[in-house]
Amino acid sequence: MPELPEVEIVCRNLNTILKPPFNIKSWIFFRRDLRFKIPKRALQQIIAVPIFAIKRRAKFILFESETGFFISHLGMTGAWRSEAKDWIRRKHDHVAFEYAPGQFLIYEDPRRFGFIEFIKKSEIEKRFKDFGAEPLASHTDFEVLTALFKKLQAPIKTALMNQKFLVGVGNIYASEILFRAGVSPLKKCSKVTRAQFQKIWHWTQFILKDAIEKGGSTINNYRNSYGETGSYQSKFFVYDLAGETCKNCNSKIKQIMQSGRSTFWCPRCQK
Ligand SMILES: [Zn+2]
Repeated sequence: MPELPEVEIVCRNLNTILKPPFNIKSWIFFRRDLRFKIPKRALQQIIAVPIFAIKRRAKFILFESETGFFISHLGMTGAWRSEAKDWIRRKHDHVAFEYAPGQFLIYEDPRRFGFIEFIKKSEIEKRFKDFGAEPLASHTDFEVLTALFKKLQAPIKTALMNQKFLVGVGNIYASEILFRAGVSPLKKCSKVTRAQFQKIWHWTQFILKDAIEKGGSTINNYRNSYGETGSYQSKFFVYDLAGETCKNCNSKIKQIMQSGRSTFWCPRCQK
């Protein structure tokens, strides 16, 4: 599933391809039953009005216009790409819009866990009120975040992935961050020390930025908007490496289930 780095890359790709401001000239719908039904009528409201920005918030891509935002979530396998008119349609192309004469941006999503929604300008704050801090934003106060996390009884890995507190970190990057910080994924937040939290926040920023630079991680099928895979998976220390030797201490990497997700860690390096 795309996490912050992969969504950020798609967002940057779309800014390069679409060069806001631009107008949507028309929509084409092939299949509307994604995770939620595509709001056809609402999307007609943003035809022929300038879309002046494409931004990321958490794992969402926001296309901003005077009338409101159309928002894309990539789910597990969503991807946007640009094609000229009369492109050879792929089996899982679900929606497209014309953004320049004869040029289309197409949404492809084999598993259909992604979705598209339309949010009025006046409701955008409400839409994201339950989402936490942006790990790469300069205004994020990590002291406040530490104080918040210290109150939690959940294991640190589960809390890191909870979008209510911190956004954009999913299963892959949570495992990698905790390895680099030397903190056990099973440790309760309340037991994690301030010094450990400082390391966690340091490595959160470092790893997310590094992953963006490496084009993200491609485990199964992540592609950017040019169809390219990422390469950050080659830098993993623990994720998906159960039974392999830890690069740091030579013990075996372990795997367990935590809140329904696989966690990978090195019991010797992570306390
Ligand atoms: Zn180790």
